[in-house]
Amino acid sequence: MRSLEFEALLDVSARVGADPLLVQGAGGNTSIKEVGTLWIKASGLWLAHARQRDVMVPVALDLLLDALERDDPATEKTQDFVISEMNPSGLRPSIETTVHALMPQKVVIHVHCVETIATAVQTNGGAIAAERLAGIPHVFVPYARPGLPLARAIAERLQEKTSVLILGNHGLAVAAETVTDAAMLLTDVSRRLTGQRRSASSADLAALSRLAVDSGYCLPDDARLHAVATDLESCRIAAGGSLYPDHVIFLGKGSVIAAPGETAVSIETDRKERGETLPPLLLFPGKGVLVEKTISAGALAMARCLADVTARIPASARLRYLSDAENAELLGWDAEKYRQKLNRAGQALQ
Ligand SMILES: [Zn+2]
Repeated sequence: MRSLEFEALLDVSARVGADPLLVQGAGGNTSIKEVGTLWIKASGLWLAHARQRDVMVPVALDLLLDALERDDPATEKTQDFVISEMNPSGLRPSIETTVHALMPQKVVIHVHCVETIATAVQTNGGAIAAERLAGIPHVFVPYARPGLPLARAIAERLQEKTSVLILGNHGLAVAAETVTDAAMLLTDVSRRLTGQRRSASSADLAALSRLAVDSGYCLPDDARLHAVATDLESCRIAAGGSLYPDHVIFLGKGSVIAAPGETAVSIETDRKERGETLPPLLLFPGKGVLVEKTISAGALAMARCLADVTARIPASARLRYLSDAENAELLGWDAEKYRQKLNRAGQALQ
């Protein structure tokens, strides 16, 4: 039988997972440590569905921590540490399981909070966090690829009382001894990191419809996606490259900004001639965005995230974009290929 705390965590997971300002698609994860077992959200599944299906995987905590101590490469996927007799659905643990294991508190919530990301992509993100989170034991962890590199970067910086991790170019993790305290800490931190949001003018739907003619692209149902293109500062920020891992995983490297005179068809033709895959999202500066007609739910969630994050980055901010090597590392990563496969198969929507 599940404990009351476990049940409470599922409630918080479903609530947090349904808030696109905290979690997009299959991103983010929650965990609870009970009698030596770390229960962690499964890879590729959505926190939003925590009350609709089995989403938690049991992992042997001490074995995983020992392996981390040894720098064992098996900690990259953490699958070897699943307690299979307690995992009838055969779920795989989140790619970010080690983040949860390393924090000693009972409950950990990791989110891709857009307010945190908008801070954590700035070159002085650590200083901004230090000022806004005064009084909360936190550390800023510079960007490292999720998995073993991120685990190492966290382990190097974690102190005994650390309850908040600001993950550079990535997101936020909060930890506490109870689900209620963790949820309150999450609310407090994201509120403190909340800055100004630029408003964007509305999309030019007539122009976008013309730009989509005869192409595999269409207008998105969610009008909020357009802000990244109708607000020219946001568009400029997006044009600079990729800012966080899930953007690269679901939308590809950087953003495709249409040049004057380009249409969805001309971009498609150009890409096909060069043997490149088609981008799920196209930005038309000042007009709005078009999405691939076959866009996945995960990519759609990340398109919304791009609009939400860029609108919160001050125009004067100096940004740290992911390097070419960091982009390539994310696109060639086995563990992520599994998550992408689930996304394409639509399992995440069940
Ligand atoms: Zn993450």
